[in-house]
Amino acid sequence: MTSGQRLKGGGVGRVYLDNNATTALDPRVVHAMQDFFLDAYGNPASRDHAFGWDAAEAVECARGEVAALVNATPHEITFTGSATESINCALKGLAPALSAEGRIVTCVTEHAAVLETSRQISRFRGVPLVMWPVDRTGHIDVAAAAEAVRSVPPGVIAIMAANNEIGTIHSLGAFARIAQESAAVFFSDLTQVVGRIPVDVRADGIDLAAFSAHKLHGPKGVGALYIRAGRGITLEPLIVGGSEERGLRAGTPNVPGIVGFGEACRIARMEMKDEAVRIGRLRDRLESALLADLPDIWVNGDPVNRLPNTTNIGFAGIDGRALIRDMHEIAVSTRSACSSSDERPSHVLKAVGLSDDDARACVRISFGRFNDENEVDYAIDKVRCSVRRLRRNTR
Ligand code: PLP
Repeated sequence: MTSGQRLKGGGVGRVYLDNNATTALDPRVVHAMQDFFLDAYGNPASRDHAFGWDAAEAVECARGEVAALVNATPHEITFTGSATESINCALKGLAPALSAEGRIVTCVTEHAAVLETSRQISRFRGVPLVMWPVDRTGHIDVAAAAEAVRSVPPGVIAIMAANNEIGTIHSLGAFARIAQESAAVFFSDLTQVVGRIPVDVRADGIDLAAFSAHKLHGPKGVGALYIRAGRGITLEPLIVGGSEERGLRAGTPNVPGIVGFGEACRIARMEMKDEAVRIGRLRDRLESALLADLPDIWVNGDPVNRLPNTTNIGFAGIDGRALIRDMHEIAVSTRSACSSSDERPSHVLKAVGLSDDDARACVRISFGRFNDENEVDYAIDKVRCSVRRLRRNTR
């Protein structure tokens, strides 16, 4: 099933190439969730009857699937409402300890969820905030970073696994080592990698991590917070009330959503390896066709170490938003969905050294499970025609 079929009921019409913003639910995920809306609607915290026991069992089964996908143990996973909530839980939960001990160190190209949470902690708690720069490909200079923490030890280092706009993949192990050597907590935003490329929180030395179901063909409104066991990390809960999620996230959990998250993780664990290759081919097919046919275009980010499903292409002399409007059947974006109403050029593209005009000339195209070659060829044609038309009109 292609994204065009899902939207139009057959054939290529509208094509969804914005899978870094969110993904379509996999029908197998919908199937797994259905019972938990209509029949097994118990509250997992209800210990007195079978409805509660069934819901609790389903939640624990899903927790096992989510943990397995990132090589964690089930009790290291806490369910939340989104990756944004998990990021807030992790960083704000650490903040009381940080005020006394150290600063927050992060990177200029992080998602707004990390940047704004860090800024808020810094504003309200007086915790110093340090932002590491990146080079043209979106990478942090690891040697400079190691040197910087030697003189001023951090309390927490927050580095994303892969950038949501340009796809650059950071070498998390290197930052985990820097954190370890300076006795800092290492947090990573895994939102764009879980279910797309292999993730091993243990091998990468991650202490805290956040991700969500809707980026891997699971439902919206459910996220996960990973807290490494045995490191003595205690978080001050963001949401208090009952003892759900071991008191870390009070409130009746979203059982159908959690079941869907578990199923999405199970499917990703089975299919991710082959899917990454197939999706990478789709991305390369589009990129090479456009680079061959259109002059004055470029690809942002690291050409090698990047997400297989992501490309970010600049079209000189064109406004990315005008291009998106012109080829309205093709759903792509200029940046992350939550900042897409921002008129300023992308902070990620500015950070990799683009001028305002060049940053505004870029479009992010991100592929997913339901895209196929027909859709990609259709998109290539649309982009080509729109770019030529817009360039003709501005001459
Ligand atoms: N972090 C990254 C890297 C993202 O791409 C996103 C969503 O676009 C988020 C965090 C926020 O995820 P959620 O929508 O689950 O809050």
